[in-house]
Amino acid sequence: MTGRRDLRCAVIGAGMAGILAAIKLREAGIDDFTVFEKADRVGGTWRENRYPGLSCDVPSHLYSYSFAPNADWSHRFSPGPEIESYFERVAADYAVMQRVRFGEAVTSCTYRDGQWRVMTAAGHEESADVVIAATGVLHHPKYPEIEGLDSFAGAIFHSARWDHTVPLDGARVGIIGTGSTAVQIVSAIVDRVERLSLFQRTAQWVAPQENPAYTDEERARFREHPEELADLRHRLDEMFTLFSNAVVDAESPEAAMVAQACLANLESNVMDPELRERLRPEYRAACKRLIISPDFYDAIQRPNADLVTDAIDCVEPEGVRTKDGRLHELDVLVLATGFKVDAFMRPMEIVGRNGITLEQAWTPRPEAYLSISMPDFPNFFMLNGPNGPVGNFSLIEVAELQFGYIMQLVERLRAGTCEEICATREALDEFERAREQAARRTVWVTGCRSWYLDDRGLPAVWPWRFTEFRKAMEEPDTAAYEFS
Ligand code: NAP
Repeated sequence: MTGRRDLRCAVIGAGMAGILAAIKLREAGIDDFTVFEKADRVGGTWRENRYPGLSCDVPSHLYSYSFAPNADWSHRFSPGPEIESYFERVAADYAVMQRVRFGEAVTSCTYRDGQWRVMTAAGHEESADVVIAATGVLHHPKYPEIEGLDSFAGAIFHSARWDHTVPLDGARVGIIGTGSTAVQIVSAIVDRVERLSLFQRTAQWVAPQENPAYTDEERARFREHPEELADLRHRLDEMFTLFSNAVVDAESPEAAMVAQACLANLESNVMDPELRERLRPEYRAACKRLIISPDFYDAIQRPNADLVTDAIDCVEPEGVRTKDGRLHELDVLVLATGFKVDAFMRPMEIVGRNGITLEQAWTPRPEAYLSISMPDFPNFFMLNGPNGPVGNFSLIEVAELQFGYIMQLVERLRAGTCEEICATREALDEFERAREQAARRTVWVTGCRSWYLDDRGLPAVWPWRFTEFRKAMEEPDTAAYEFS
């Protein structure tokens, strides 16, 4: 017992989870904290991704903080810039901005003498009792290894590094990839470009989902009757919980329902039988992250759209050459090829107790107890860390639940009942063992390649129902932690 302490905290990242951490720390009466943000604005993934058609496939009323509902969402699935504005507004309303050090990329966090030393690329150094890493999951673009990529004479960029100076109208545009990102881009630009070539390595199941706009009357009603908004959120939440049941149990009736909806979408909305077959995946629906789109099939059936299913051979100055020898001439080439999903806060150097580095702890792959805490890294907690629930759910709810859990640990430090808290090695090993076992029942291991799978082919995500995640986040199991 050391007596009650005033804690100093460092939050890394001012995206959705970092903003949340700042708000909740202050709410808990911890006012001594800094949020480090490498960019010059808040917003995280919504600041970085600016591609045409960007939206969130979680309904907006669910993809909002529980404490900051927004009666004014324009659509069921609102566009990216509106989501970015929402985060900026919440950060401003809750006076988060004043606590953010913008343009300060954290390069290292080192634990020494019971404190973390946080260093930034700009040369700033601060100490903190507690570090909360809120660095996001998908933010290091993955570039494909394709021969001749650098030789392309037109404009070329990754979807997360969209170059808005490049004109699209009347251009011949190629897109490599058929993930959630590519599908949104295709629908958004097909009617603007002269020719759109979509290079598909693997076909995707597409779940249909209408995206109606909310009327002025509906929005006024939500403003005047917050209970209606709360009710809507509750209903959306129930729908999503159903989906989470589908993905974690490949044999569940919910999984069959998802498969049926995707199949009906393909069969009834793609007219040309030859194109339909080329769009038909050879694996089960939701094995890869499910694509949710109201209009992708319409877009790919436009006369100026070309679904290219021959494998890419190389990129040449004039365009992409496929293995059948055909040259697809292009002015613009978009790499919608996804992200390095196991990077998390790396390349930051994190050095825990006894000089143990994150690199060592995460060899061969990232792990953390309940995706939050790691042995040898005391008082260091992660929001949306490795192996958490990243299916088609609201990562906001995930982060809120995680934060509530983390705060219960932080309160112990604050109360002075201990000075260091981290998960035990045994708890982490047992969690990983149970996770691997449960992962074998999920739809993600039913025979497809996806970014969910780790180097062993096991899903690097929470493999249980979302209700179980909620339960796990209610209260820390003290036996799983080392309090010293
Ligand atoms: P992704 O799902 O990882 O898809 C990458 C695509 O690029 C795949 O189609 C992949 O093909 C293809 N690809 C990669 N390397 C290639 C190569 N060398 N040659 C040919 N094709 C190649 O990436 P993403 O679409 O950016 O989506 C990533 C995640 O971001 C999503 O799953 C989702 O979690 C999130 N996201 C969410 C939303 C949303 O609405 N909430 C929107 C966009 C993104 P294979 O399938 O054959 O590997």
